[in-house]
Amino acid sequence: MEYRKLGKGIIRISEGHRINLIINHWAGGNATGPFKINQNMNRRFIIFFVLLLSGTALYAQSTSQLLQTHAGKTIFPKLAYSYSELEPNIDSVTMRIHYSKHFRAYYDNFKKAVTGTPFENQSVKDLFAGIASAPPAVKNNAGGFYNHALYWEIMAPNSGGMPTGDLSDKIGMAFGGFDNFKKAFTDAAMTRFGSGWAWLIVKSDKSLAIVSTANQDNPLMGNAEVKGTPILLIDVWEHAYYLKYQNRRADYITAFWNVVNWKAVSELYAKAIE
Ligand code: MN
Repeated sequence: MEYRKLGKGIIRISEGHRINLIINHWAGGNATGPFKINQNMNRRFIIFFVLLLSGTALYAQSTSQLLQTHAGKTIFPKLAYSYSELEPNIDSVTMRIHYSKHFRAYYDNFKKAVTGTPFENQSVKDLFAGIASAPPAVKNNAGGFYNHALYWEIMAPNSGGMPTGDLSDKIGMAFGGFDNFKKAFTDAAMTRFGSGWAWLIVKSDKSLAIVSTANQDNPLMGNAEVKGTPILLIDVWEHAYYLKYQNRRADYITAFWNVVNWKAVSELYAKAIE
């Protein structure tokens, strides 16, 4: 395999005519090395595609769109930032493994589990609503896929701080101020025993609530203890933090607040109360 870094893009050439383009955003920017044009290829053709792709927005499908998508037609969501951009709060090795291995496996196994079944033609949202009748492989991988897609979306480089506007007001009213909200959400994440997630959700009466779920369950699932539309979540599986923080989940949660993309959360809130 030969690599060459070219502008924002990285080109990878394998045998024969096969060309794989890896955008720096995905590769973490470290796949560099010698480069040799295969005699069957046209250099200008390759450069054209590298430039074309590196200029393309990496956003693919928002999670709200994803929920409306037929399970069998979901696509693997792209990260809107590079693996290293959440440093030092979330390290690039964790991001790379979490996104390209764990998340990828949930996605692949989700597709495999629904293909050729009636779930394939259901929207992801309907699938969650009726999840009680789904086999464990569908439930676990559908949850793993959706939960992570949302988790990537509500984080961003150079973010953190506090929400503004309507969401800020509603959080203030529901939890007695932003600091109290942070504390309650942190408690939910800290007290989730074993693997799971903590969530800020919008319930059907449009009120806000903080909940936590085990494994890859989520509050959209018909059998969830408290149901609602997720707008903020944190992964507290050890794979989300162990490489950098080892057993110190509290430190990971503290760092997580520095990468919360409140703009994205506010947009999810606005959609949830529509
Ligand atoms: Mn995870």
